[in-house]
Amino acid sequence: MEKLIFATGNSHKMVEIRMILKSLGMEILSQKEAGIDAEVMEDGATFEENAVIKAEAIRKIAAQNQEYKNCIVLADDSGLEIDYLNKEPGIYSARYMGENTSYDIKNNELIRRLEGVPDEKRTARFVCAIAAAFPDGAVKVVRGTMEGRIGYEIAGENGFGYDPIFYLPEYGCTSAELAPEKKNELSHRGEGLRKIGAVIEEMKRQIVEN
Ligand code: IMP
Repeated sequence: MEKLIFATGNSHKMVEIRMILKSLGMEILSQKEAGIDAEVMEDGATFEENAVIKAEAIRKIAAQNQEYKNCIVLADDSGLEIDYLNKEPGIYSARYMGENTSYDIKNNELIRRLEGVPDEKRTARFVCAIAAAFPDGAVKVVRGTMEGRIGYEIAGENGFGYDPIFYLPEYGCTSAELAPEKKNELSHRGEGLRKIGAVIEEMKRQIVEN
């Protein structure tokens, strides 16, 4: 069976990835499961650049192992863009106010920075870029998004990160109040994964045809 490595150490992401990419019929491994213990410096200027940097770096390492020479490597980069704050925290979402600062503090600070800002100016989105690095050196990257607004208070226990302040007007709740399956269906990562799944299908089809 062909192999696919996802460059992440996050087990929550692996569950989502395995669920959404199941139809590819490939063996899906985390970076750790493939025995790759590398931290890649994400120094790109966009989500897409960071995802590509990570996917290419991990593919090069994987290719040194005969077992993973022909595998496809996927990597993602995601974050929250708040329009009123010039798309902050953006690619710095994980590092915003310091990597070790709790999300309770980060979320309260973002609510404070939007104090007095009316509904229509509180627009925001989660973005997820996913890159696929193929054995022949080709790289493809896609973007998934989820649109919403920054709420006025923290709400919800599900999800992680900025979910408790990410309000979805059409559902009347934050993404931390959605059932996990519903969030996967609507989320930026879900959309990105479905798009990259279609790209991989197409690449495989072209290989069979040629
Ligand atoms: P990374 O792509 O794993 O580096 O994640 C970037 C950061 O973006 C996370 O640490 C969170 O702060 C934020 N983020 C990305 N996706 C989500 C989400 O689905 N919910 C809440 N926060 C998210």
